[in-house]
Amino acid sequence: MNFIEDIPVRGHYDLIVAGGGVAGVAAALSAQRLGKNVLLIEKSIMLGGLSTIGLINFFVPMCNGRGKLIIRGMAEELLRLSIRYGYDSIPEDWKNGEPVKPTLQRYCTRYSPQIFALAMTELLHNAGITIRFDSVVSMPVMNGLHCDGVIVESKSGREYFSAGVVVDATGDAEVLYRANVPIRQGKNYFSYYGHALTLESCRLAWETKDIAKAITGRHGGNADLYGRNHPAGMPVYTGTNANEISRFVVLNQCQMLDNIRTETRTSRDIITLPTMCQFRTIRCIDGDYCLTIGDQYRHFADSVGAINDFDQRDFLYEIPYRTLVRSGFDNLITAGRCVCGDGYAWDVLRVIPPAIISGQAAGTAAALVLDSGRPIYDIDIVQLQQTLEKAKVMIHFNDSLIPEKLADDVNVESEHF
Ligand SMILES: Cc1cc2nc3c(=O)[nH]c(=O)nc-3n(C[C@H](O)[C@H](O)[C@H](O)COP(=O)(O)OP(=O)(O)OC[C@H]3O[C@@H](n4cnc5c(N)ncnc54)[C@H](O)[C@@H]3O)c2cc1C
Repeated sequence: MNFIEDIPVRGHYDLIVAGGGVAGVAAALSAQRLGKNVLLIEKSIMLGGLSTIGLINFFVPMCNGRGKLIIRGMAEELLRLSIRYGYDSIPEDWKNGEPVKPTLQRYCTRYSPQIFALAMTELLHNAGITIRFDSVVSMPVMNGLHCDGVIVESKSGREYFSAGVVVDATGDAEVLYRANVPIRQGKNYFSYYGHALTLESCRLAWETKDIAKAITGRHGGNADLYGRNHPAGMPVYTGTNANEISRFVVLNQCQMLDNIRTETRTSRDIITLPTMCQFRTIRCIDGDYCLTIGDQYRHFADSVGAINDFDQRDFLYEIPYRTLVRSGFDNLITAGRCVCGDGYAWDVLRVIPPAIISGQAAGTAAALVLDSGRPIYDIDIVQLQQTLEKAKVMIHFNDSLIPEKLADDVNVESEHF
């Protein structure tokens, strides 16, 4: 505690959210809507994280692939916000919400990352949430397994903020890791993508009167989430080491320049490069439960939201609350891509709509335990689920959505604990 005595105390908040990606935004907003005083600390100067400054401007499908909306609540709210002032690519059948008839079109959309960031800032600002941009949460201050608050580094120097609850929405479990909460490590392939314009894409946009068609892309590394196109012999990246991250950026930027060198100089421009590394899985909490693909179609008594696989039609999951917390740590919780999942199940959890759902759950849980005084890992789960349902989250998927040919093969029994 001597260390803290030298650092100016800047205030107390009910909830501090570290990281202003979509998960952090959802957590902050959910707690604020339940009457809590919230500070959101973001190291860049835009909200949205990978979904904006990382240039990942695509809400993956939020339906089962047969016309049923699965991922609702704040994910649906933020999807609609992402396109309110900018372009979209919502399929015709979903333009006005859930279609009346079954459809194979999937509910997903592209959006302008910059305009989405502006809209999120306005939303949080108008809600009365305090946003600290250009500020890094550098260290949680622990008192045993309890987090008293966080140390923040910024142009204002080193400051201390105390909190009732802290949500780690940093995308790489930075706060949890430094608080000695057990974590799991991911791996990342060589990929780097920027937004570009070409004369041809601008002509197409002009002809169709659709500005989205002007945006095209340019790659450095071009590996996908399964590691396809990862250069032979190149190690994978953990994303947890500054030298390794710098090497990743340098190699990718050189590769991108190589890729465009032969193009006619005046025929195109790169309009934005990502300002955070496009790493998919860095660290997640080693939570009280780890979701696996074996949990497909499984109901959890502590579900905080039904989600669907973004890639494969019909495949459904529920997010157990235990994937957000670790027993013993009474006021630390996580959300977004730091939620505990294994292999492809981590991928299913970390994409934008589920990241928003876990953010909404984390912020709501924080608000409830601030009122009840219970440890966050021992929340009244029924109260949490009822509160989330009121905020339009689908807690459990309906078994009628399990395809008949699968129904006999999978274990759909509820888990009890
Ligand atoms: C290459 C790639 C392609 C993808 N494609 C898609 C796709 O098509 N569709 C889709 O839905 N998802 C996609 N995803 C996944 C998705 O973009 C992310 O998983 C999701 O946006 C994660 O949101 P988040 O809020 O959990 O974390 P992040 O977006 O990582 O946000 C974390 C925020 O915390 C801030 N931060 C970090 N550390 C600190 C600190 N110490 N102090 C203060 N602030 C801090 C960061 O600046 C950032 O703003 C893709 C991801 C990648 C990498």
